[in-house]
Amino acid sequence: MLKKILNFIYPDTCIFCRKIIGVSAYEKQDFTCNNCKKKLEYIRGQNDLKKSYNTYFDYLLYAFKYEGFVRTLLLDFKFYNKTYLHEFFASEILKIIQKFSQAKYDYVLYVPISINRYFARGFNQSYMIAKYISNHINIPILKYGLVKIKNNKIQSTLKIAQRKQNVSGVYKVLFRKSLAGKKVLLVDDIFTTGSTVNECSRILKDAGVLEITVATIARA
Ligand SMILES: [Zn+2]
Repeated sequence: MLKKILNFIYPDTCIFCRKIIGVSAYEKQDFTCNNCKKKLEYIRGQNDLKKSYNTYFDYLLYAFKYEGFVRTLLLDFKFYNKTYLHEFFASEILKIIQKFSQAKYDYVLYVPISINRYFARGFNQSYMIAKYISNHINIPILKYGLVKIKNNKIQSTLKIAQRKQNVSGVYKVLFRKSLAGKKVLLVDDIFTTGSTVNECSRILKDAGVLEITVATIARA
């Protein structure tokens, strides 16, 4: 009831252009106006769900190409505390999962951030998205299934060649028994060179995980 009243006073606006898109649009998981929706179609991810044999993860799903206003919005989400955006991003990943992947996952996992960064930022963007997806596909999130045990440099500040080195030995798998023989959905925000999710996948496979599908908002 309170939500309905608030919605009436503050109607929902498009997350891109701020145009009013009507009362309770968010409840219908509609975050953009029709005009922006059309523009988004141009930067949608071209998923084909081919199994990858060059990486430790088996499949890669992504909602968008990392460009245009999705890129701007992602930076706002990550660095300017616009946490409300996680619902939009997660709902877009969800559409991709439902369209391309028939896999029944046992767990949803997410790429962790270090404790230092968590306290500086106040949230882990990948966890927020993973949580939303977990709730909507009814598959449990394994909190702290992956943990970050070392502080490293921020990947985006490094050259491509240094990124692999930078993530090596930084993560650790907990709950190895629960994960052995399981299929997991691993959530991260942006896929650039893939070094981070590949390192996480390497240690997950090492812990006996059977199959890994990586799901990200955008691919560079
Ligand atoms: Zn709009």
